[in-house]
Amino acid sequence: MVFTAPSDLSGGLYFLNGKRTTVKASETFDVIEPRIGKVVAQCPKATAQIVDEYVKVASAAQPAWGETTALDRGKVLHKVADLIREHAEELAVWEVKTNGKPIYEARCDIASSADTFDFFGGIATAVLQGDSLELPGGPSQRIAYTRREPYGVIGCIGAWNYPFQTCVWKVAPALAAGNSVVYKPSPFAPASPVLLGEILTAAGVPDGVYNVIQGEGEAGIALCEHQLVAKVSFTGSVASGEAVQRQSATKNVKPVTLELGGKSELIIFDDSNVQSAVAAAMLANFLNQGQVCTNATRVFVQRGILASFTEAIVKEANEKLKVGDPLLEDTRVGANINEGHLQRILGYVESAKQEGGVVLRGGERVHPEGVEGGAYFDPAIITGLTDEAKAVREEIFGACMLILPFDTEEEVIARANNTTYGLAAGVFSGNLARGHRVAARLQAGTVFINTYNDTEVNVPFGGFKNSGHGRENCIDTLRAHTQTKAIYVNVQDTTEHCF
Ligand code: NAD
Repeated sequence: MVFTAPSDLSGGLYFLNGKRTTVKASETFDVIEPRIGKVVAQCPKATAQIVDEYVKVASAAQPAWGETTALDRGKVLHKVADLIREHAEELAVWEVKTNGKPIYEARCDIASSADTFDFFGGIATAVLQGDSLELPGGPSQRIAYTRREPYGVIGCIGAWNYPFQTCVWKVAPALAAGNSVVYKPSPFAPASPVLLGEILTAAGVPDGVYNVIQGEGEAGIALCEHQLVAKVSFTGSVASGEAVQRQSATKNVKPVTLELGGKSELIIFDDSNVQSAVAAAMLANFLNQGQVCTNATRVFVQRGILASFTEAIVKEANEKLKVGDPLLEDTRVGANINEGHLQRILGYVESAKQEGGVVLRGGERVHPEGVEGGAYFDPAIITGLTDEAKAVREEIFGACMLILPFDTEEEVIARANNTTYGLAAGVFSGNLARGHRVAARLQAGTVFINTYNDTEVNVPFGGFKNSGHGRENCIDTLRAHTQTKAIYVNVQDTTEHCF
C-alpha cells in the first residue's frame, strides 16, 4: 500500500484494522482549523462501546505482532521513518492546519518524528533482551533467566500542542516492544494520528496493531478503565493526569506514564553572555506560540544584568517575532489552538496587570491579514511581578515571558523550586561549575545549562513532582513498554524439598 496525504478530512478521523474510517455516534465535536478559526468537520465522539470494539481489535492483533522478532519490527519502523521523510512537507502542512504552528516549526516536528522511529526501530533488538542469572549451586543445578515481554494493548492519550510528535513518541516505543495501540488524540487536534496510521499501514504494520479513537474526556476514561488495556501512556494537564492515574486503577491495576504540565524557570546569572541568554530565553518562551510544556515563563535574572538583558530581549522579540499566517515561510508566531485558549492567555495578562505587572511588549490579540479568524496573540514580556502573582504561579501555556529579578544563588534556587511542577529548568552562567552545581539542586526532569528546549530522541524526557512520572524518548522508555518475566529452570532431577 502507498501513502498519499489526504486533501481533506472526509475519509474519517478514526483508524481501525489498517484503514481510516468513521463511526456512528449520537454526539459529535467540532474540528476547528486554528489557522483560520473555522469549523472544518464534525467528528463523532467515541462511546464506551466504540472504545470496547477498538480495544478488542487491538487485543486480537497484538499476539502475532508481539511474536515477531524485534529485528523484524525494527525493519518495519525504519520504513515508517523513511515514509515520514518522503512525505515530510505534506505532513508538515497538515500539522500547521491541525495545530496552527508556523510551517518552519512543523517541519522540525516531522523530521524528529522520523528520527524517533529510526531510534526505537534501531535499538529494539539490542534492548529487548533478557538476562541469564546464576543461582546458588551453579548452573549444573538451577538457573534463571528473564524475558522482556510486551504488555499487550497500550492505551495512549495525547495533548494538542505537538499532535504528530506526541503520537509518535508514544507509538514508536510501544510498537517496537511488540505491543498494539489504541490512541486517543485531543479533540482540538485530531487529524495527525490518522495520517500516521496510514503511514504505518503502508510500511507494513499489520492491521489492527494501531488504532485511533476520537473524543473528549469520556472516551479517555473508557480507554483507561478498559480491562484489556494493559498500560496507559498519557500526555496532558496535571488535573487530567491525576484523573487518568485514578481511572487506570478502577477495574484492574495498570502502569501509567504521565507527561504533564510545567511551570519551568530559566535562571540567568550576571556572568552570562547576555546575547546567548536572550537567544535561549526566546526558545524557552516563544516556540509554538508558547504552547510548550517545558517552557520557562519564569525568567529569573540576576540584578547585575537585569537592565541589559531586559533591553536586549525586548529588542530581539520586537525584531524577530513576526505573527502571521503559519503557512508563510517568514512567520515565527502562528495561531493559538482556539479562541478559548487565547482568552485564557489574555486573562493571565490582565491578572498580571492587576497584580502590578508592566507589559513591556505585546500581550494583545492581533488579526493577521488573510487569517483574521484565528486566535493570534502578540507574545508578551512582563516585568514587575512577585512570585505570588497568579501568572507566576500557574501554567499559562501561552507566549508570556515573566522577568523576575534575583540577588543570590541560594535565593533563586529556593524560589525556582517553590512550585508543585518539576518538568524543566535552565541555568545560564559563564561559570560552568556553578551551572552544574545549580543544575543538581533544581527539582526538574530536564535541566538545560547555557541552552534551552533542546530535545533529542536518546535523552530521557519527563517530569519530577506533579509534572508526571515515567520517561519518553531514550532506552528506558523502550524497556518501560515491556514487562519482565523471570523463569526458573531446574537443570537436574531432584528429590530434595523442605517437606
Ligand atoms: P488536557 O489534560 O486538557 O487533555 C489532554 C488529553 O487528555 C486530551 O486528549 C483530553 O481529551 C484527555 N482527557 C481529558 N480528561 C481525561 C480523563 N479524565 N481521562 C482520560 N483522558 C482525558 O491537556 P491539553 O489542554 O490537551 O494539553 C495541555 C497540557 O498538556 C498542558 O498542561 C501541557 O503542559 C501538557 N503537556 C505536557 C507534555 C509533556 O510531555 N510533559 C507535553 C505536551 C503537553
